[in-house]
Amino acid sequence: MKKTLLTIATMALLATACNHKAKTEAPQLTSGIDPSYLDTTANPVEDFYRYACGGWMDANPLKPEYSRYGSFDKLAETNQEQLRGLIDSVSAAQNEKGSISDKIATLYNIGMDSVKLNQQGAEPIQELLKGIAAINSREALAAKVAELHHIGIDPFFGIMNEADPDNSKMQMAWIWQTGLGMGDRDYYLEKKNADKREKYQDLIAKEMVMAGYDKMASFAGGGNIIAKMVMDVETGLAKAQYDKLKNRDPHATLHKMTLDELKKMAPAVAFDKYFAEMGLANIKNMNVGQPEYIAEVSKVLANANMESVKAYLAWNVVNTAAAYLSDDFVQANFEFFGKTMSGQEEMRPRWKRVTSTVNGAMSEALGQLYVAKYFPPEAKERMVTLVNNLKEAFAVRIDGANWMDPETKEKAKDKLAAILVKVGYPDKWRDYSKLEINDDSYFANVLRSNRFDVDYMMSKIDKPTDRDEWQMPPQMVNAYYNPTTNEICFPAAILQPPFFNMKADDAANYGAIGVVIGHEMTHGFDDQGHEYDKDGNLNNWWKESDATNFKTNAQVLIDHFNAIKVLDEPETFANGEFCLGENIADNGGLHISYVAMQKALEKQQVNGEPMDGYTPAQRFFLAYAAVWASNIRDEEIVRLTAMDVHSLAKWRVNGTLPHITEFIEAFNVQPGNKMYLAPEKRVTLW
Ligand SMILES: [Zn+2]
Repeated sequence: MKKTLLTIATMALLATACNHKAKTEAPQLTSGIDPSYLDTTANPVEDFYRYACGGWMDANPLKPEYSRYGSFDKLAETNQEQLRGLIDSVSAAQNEKGSISDKIATLYNIGMDSVKLNQQGAEPIQELLKGIAAINSREALAAKVAELHHIGIDPFFGIMNEADPDNSKMQMAWIWQTGLGMGDRDYYLEKKNADKREKYQDLIAKEMVMAGYDKMASFAGGGNIIAKMVMDVETGLAKAQYDKLKNRDPHATLHKMTLDELKKMAPAVAFDKYFAEMGLANIKNMNVGQPEYIAEVSKVLANANMESVKAYLAWNVVNTAAAYLSDDFVQANFEFFGKTMSGQEEMRPRWKRVTSTVNGAMSEALGQLYVAKYFPPEAKERMVTLVNNLKEAFAVRIDGANWMDPETKEKAKDKLAAILVKVGYPDKWRDYSKLEINDDSYFANVLRSNRFDVDYMMSKIDKPTDRDEWQMPPQMVNAYYNPTTNEICFPAAILQPPFFNMKADDAANYGAIGVVIGHEMTHGFDDQGHEYDKDGNLNNWWKESDATNFKTNAQVLIDHFNAIKVLDEPETFANGEFCLGENIADNGGLHISYVAMQKALEKQQVNGEPMDGYTPAQRFFLAYAAVWASNIRDEEIVRLTAMDVHSLAKWRVNGTLPHITEFIEAFNVQPGNKMYLAPEKRVTLW
């Protein structure tokens, strides 16, 4: 539901902010264009991506552990080393038992202890598996689902807190489809994925035997039979699930109901017991994202072969646990999810995997340490200035939108002005004192951490929305817009080069971090975001003519991306409809930040002189492209095209820029060039 910028990191320090009186000489600003990124043998009007990023791509070939590696992943990699350093320094100190430092150190050490992990093997999941194998009634089956959800294992469906779409000031329970080991229904249903299904089934067979479930189950049959049972259950569920396009539609997934209505619709789920287990015994109303699917889950619980459903629950445990058990599990898990699904050749080293676990379990505690060490306080102030400049520029663009009714424009500007801006880190930090970490097993700690998080989420249900809460920790290299709180957020870790370069002049910074900010703001006005009003309620504030024009104009972008072939073998095309929100945000972000750059240059009375041979406009677009410099494997192209709402990095440049008139002019792109689109074919939105 939340929009994130995927792989975007940034530091938004405005180069012009160095204006403390001329005690020292004004620093000489660079062009911000790193020549090592470029491939000047390429022709920018034919393949701008290659021209702007070819040097970087050649110098940074894919390492075996990556399925995709870009300038933003490089930043995330540095970030991980910094986190490891913080964990190491905490571990080296004498920590009081039960202190947050002690918890960080204990979890990290137990994850790194390969001897202990390998000795324990599948032992950490035995109790859970035995509990499932012993189920002998439909009621016990339903109760087990609730127990598993409480520890963060989500067979069938998931529950979370989200805003009430009609009253965003309150949080409510949302029930959402989950429960497919391969993630998306298309993997189960599309012919082209037969090979993946076969390998997935092999994985199930292998790991269920390694876990010893074949010995516990009360039917005869080895791994292959168990795998077939699991696959049948998952395929049945996949058929009943909404597809990813429907799930992007906030109206199609809005089905508020009372507890009685829910129970009537899905009697076999035993929702009374379920909510009691979740600490929500008094719940009255909820939103069910996909009611037809939940009705199907109820049918499965009531009618399906009980041994199959038990095998499915057991597989959910094994599959969740595999990455935290002994090396044989970790390896089997990687062979499928890393190699087959993404084309990774090698696993990430253990320290990176464990750092991610610690980071996930105690993100704000690590975030607090991270900010103290790595986030310069002046960065926050400068970023806020930059965001305000972008807001002003967006208002100019809204005024100029000739497809929009004047009254609606005023409402759009009200919404823009109301956007809450978060930069760097939260004012208040989460309390981890009740989280229990000890030295029994790595996976036991993961489960306790999950339970701690589930309880935290459940505690928000039917309570007022806390608009000060952050949906992302400060050490995450990313950014987001949340439509229900109408907020944009730029964590500390994105506020650094290559997104923001303090030593570079404005043009490059507006092209990189400026576009990132504009991108997040535009999400408030994309195909989903515009359905929400300035208070975050799902409430139509557009006239019919605005909505019609928006749709007609957006279709241009859909058609343009649908025609882009992203891979020859297997032949794969971009999905213009699925990526529409992100493509609108890239398009809007570029326009808005370009206006902001022009205003900044005017203010400084800089008349756009070339630096290092590039005009400000050219530097703006080169810096934009540099953010997306990356290499990617074919398997990952296929996977991301199926799963990711963002266009692939290459097409965020070569697919997006032909629609930007300022780009066409800056590089003198002519009819017949690959980067050219005729003016009437360029999209007009924000
Ligand atoms: Zn986005």
